[in-house]
Amino acid sequence: MQRILVTGGAGFLGSHMCERLVDEGHDVICLDNFFTAQKSNVAHLLNRPNFELIRHDVTLPIFLEVDQIYHMACPAAPGHYQFNPIKTIKTSVMGSINMLGMAKRCGARILLASTSEIYGDPLIHPQPESYWGNVNTIGIRSCYDEGKRVAETLFMDYYRKNKVDIRIVRIFNTYGPRMHPYDGRVVSNFIRQALQGQSITIFGEGEQTRSFCYRNDLVEGIFRLMNNEENFIGPVNIGNPGEFTIRELAELVIELTGAKVAIEKRPLPPDDPSRRRPDITLAKKHLNWEPQIPLREGLQKTIDWFKSINFDNYRPPTPNYV
Ligand code: NAD
Ligand code: UDP
Repeated sequence: MQRILVTGGAGFLGSHMCERLVDEGHDVICLDNFFTAQKSNVAHLLNRPNFELIRHDVTLPIFLEVDQIYHMACPAAPGHYQFNPIKTIKTSVMGSINMLGMAKRCGARILLASTSEIYGDPLIHPQPESYWGNVNTIGIRSCYDEGKRVAETLFMDYYRKNKVDIRIVRIFNTYGPRMHPYDGRVVSNFIRQALQGQSITIFGEGEQTRSFCYRNDLVEGIFRLMNNEENFIGPVNIGNPGEFTIRELAELVIELTGAKVAIEKRPLPPDDPSRRRPDITLAKKHLNWEPQIPLREGLQKTIDWFKSINFDNYRPPTPNYV
């Protein structure tokens, strides 16, 4: 039994991580400022004796005694991280410094939830971890991309200089139950639009690609990285190599929901990566991990969950959704 802190623990991925760790019997502290979180994501954990919830902002110092830290606090959807871009950078940079300081003081192992966005609009395809990326420093996605790049740098410097026990995972587009219905991300947007009988909004021609990983596969990969005892620290890509155009995704959502809705084109936002697909050779080799759930199956589970919730219970965190 370990004392484990999950920052961003009431968010989409963080809440699944908390659930897994509570079920394994660990003493879990979930820390969140509730910017994009939902209390309902962790409501079922509140009466568990080994779960504790703290409302706190990671840009501010906090002193806790823990053995492991999953550092996942950061808005992840473009509409959320672009709402207050300066706060997004502060969250990645100051939040990482505060959590790395805690890890150093406690001798804790700390994992960073980094992102495929550090590859920017990639010139190498699929993307291996050795690729340094193609990122605009001054665009509307830079607050997120560069913030995570600095966070990776901080983690590596604390590792080299202060011997902090770190792990870095680069997460590719992940979806599943508990995505915020108004986060504006493509999977949640398309499903909500289809279920509400609205047109599906494709940005640009819909020819850009993404690779979609179901949340259970992702949680398993992160868990294996954190608990790997062969001194493999990453960075490691965790994602599903199945690659789809956004138009293909729209058509699949329409087919699976049975919705009679049109596809509507919207302008492509600046710096939108044209393609993305993880090379997962390292994850297979060091973590013996590869995704198990294909898109069609994961989408069906996600659609079923979206059908079970009441959209009126969700407050859009920002006005940046379509
Ligand atoms: P999410 O928005 O649901 O979760 C982020 C959580 O962090 C939220 O609960 C939010 O309230 C919290 N948070 C934000 N700023 C904070 C702050 N300053 N202090 C404390 N808490 C704060 O998004 P998610 O998809 O669950 O993403 C979780 C992590 O995984 C993020 O770090 C994100 O960058 C990373 N990631 C996710 C994906 C994906 O496809 N889901 C892809 C790449 C990386
Ligand atoms: N997208 C879209 N329609 C939407 C939302 C997103 O066509 O309603 C596109 C977006 O332009 C991008 C892709 O879907 O090319 C994935 O967008 P998302 O916001 O989910 O994540 P990203 O991978 O861009 O961070």
